[in-house]
Amino acid sequence: MVLALSARRCRRQIINSSAEIRVPQMNTTAARSQQMSRIRSKDTKPEMMVRRTLHNLGFRFRLHVRELPGCPDIVLPKWRAIIQVKGCFWHGHACRGGRQPKSNRDYWIPKLVGNRERDLSNERKLRQLGWSVHSLWECRLRRWGQPALEAFILRAVGKGTQA
Ligand SMILES: [Zn+2]
Repeated sequence: MVLALSARRCRRQIINSSAEIRVPQMNTTAARSQQMSRIRSKDTKPEMMVRRTLHNLGFRFRLHVRELPGCPDIVLPKWRAIIQVKGCFWHGHACRGGRQPKSNRDYWIPKLVGNRERDLSNERKLRQLGWSVHSLWECRLRRWGQPALEAFILRAVGKGTQA
């Protein structure tokens, strides 16, 4: 099957890519490795996992659609559904991985708050355009097995048990 794989990059992903981001100097090696581990680029492993599963289930989707508000990660046009794969740190999940950093707060807090506000605003716009928007948090994805991920996808497209 042919997937519409867009080679074009979204601005947001470029900003979040490790190549572009300027990480302020960390106090300790531990702090640095903690921060670096949280930096995610466009083709993150969790997103690849979702793509692979969608593909296996036979869904057609588009990636990083710039024509839509916020350039959503995974768009299923036929089902009018959007799946946003969210890194807990970047998008402020209420979980352990979403805790705000203790150092360099002047740098991180406005950035993370901005991400969160932008997410909410974009998701509101998408819903107004008639899309159903589903956040898939990285921590859940890590915890879930394949059946749970498949169930999430089927719920996202408003289907029961089959693709
Ligand atoms: Zn989380």
